[in-house]
Amino acid sequence: MKNFTYYRPTTAEQAVALLEARFGNTEMLAGGTDLLSLQKDYIAQPARVVSLNGIAGLNTITIGQRSVTIGAGVTLAAIAGHVQLSRLFPALASAAGEIGGPQIRNMGTLGGNLCQRNRCWYFRDEHSPCLLRGGNRCSAIEGENKYHAIFTANHRCVIASPSTLATGLIALGASAEILGPQNRRRTVELAKFYRAPAAANEREHTLAANELITSVTIPVRGLTNAAYEVRQKQSSDWPIVQCAVAFSAGRNGEKATGVRIVLSHVAPTPMIAEAAGRAVENRAITAVAATAAGRAAAEGAKPLSQNGYKVRLVEVAVKRALMIAAGLPRYWEA
Ligand SMILES: Cc1cc2nc3c(=O)[nH]c(=O)nc-3n(C[C@H](O)[C@H](O)[C@H](O)COP(=O)(O)OP(=O)(O)OC[C@H]3O[C@@H](n4cnc5c(N)ncnc54)[C@H](O)[C@@H]3O)c2cc1C
Repeated sequence: MKNFTYYRPTTAEQAVALLEARFGNTEMLAGGTDLLSLQKDYIAQPARVVSLNGIAGLNTITIGQRSVTIGAGVTLAAIAGHVQLSRLFPALASAAGEIGGPQIRNMGTLGGNLCQRNRCWYFRDEHSPCLLRGGNRCSAIEGENKYHAIFTANHRCVIASPSTLATGLIALGASAEILGPQNRRRTVELAKFYRAPAAANEREHTLAANELITSVTIPVRGLTNAAYEVRQKQSSDWPIVQCAVAFSAGRNGEKATGVRIVLSHVAPTPMIAEAAGRAVENRAITAVAATAAGRAAAEGAKPLSQNGYKVRLVEVAVKRALMIAAGLPRYWEA
């Protein structure tokens, strides 16, 4: 690992003042579960590391009548184990509980989860050409791509979005509170937070290099919600496909309205599956309706040479997430 200077500010404003206008030379450190492995592999080589761990107030959860605010420094374990979060937002809490193993969940934070870098093995191998490390091509497009995006139209880099918390948060209509230089604060809907990067100075999100997330706010609207992950391994890995759903009513045979269905691990950013939402909008959620939504979600997929299998997994993930949310029998657990 390259030597670096370590900073430990005690306020978010001080942390922002230490950041730079371009990514690379200075990086923020939260739990370190992603950043440190990137440093060890020489993918990230910051000369300065700014720890967020001495900042008071980043690790609180506030439950209000109309919204819930979760500090960026709250750990994944705290989210997974929070009784009220689990009751209000199972799509979020269940996903947090599935991440990695206990060590990762105890160190990893909400902010770090949302801003983690992608899992492409070419990106994470310092010897492979990669657009995101200044190369002139994406090695995955013609290479080993079984875990990459299947919605690839117009993308020069075919990473799959890694965060499984973003999916549920987008379904629930959550926003990130962001602090930048000169104490500039802004709020961004997580649905608009992500971007598909294609160059070395771009990240998977729209934060500037000198901005940080202070917290995430989730509106309390009484939405029925759930997430489902298709996993190859039960722990210590990311899912292959994940789906989160949220809607009003939709249980006990009632019609679901305002349906939002979000997918991750299938495109460079989390993806709202609009056609799938329309397929069940204003309908009772049954196994048949959920199957139709799954098929609609998979429309438009353009898989790569090795990941056509993910198209079927999208259908399954959407169907099962809808069925869990609607309280229908989980036939796959029988
Ligand atoms: C074995 C394993 C399995 C995993 N499985 C999953 C999974 O299933 N689903 C999933 O979603 N994740 C998974 N992860 C990833 C894990 O969730 C992340 O590594 C963790 O959440 C990152 O949080 P951190 O606090 O450690 O971030 P760090 O490593 O400290 O930081 C990660 C990145 O976020 C930036 N950052 C951190 N905090 C902020 C902030 N407040 N504002 C702006 N930028 C910030 C950092 O600068 C850095 O670029 C897995 C990780 C491992 C090792």
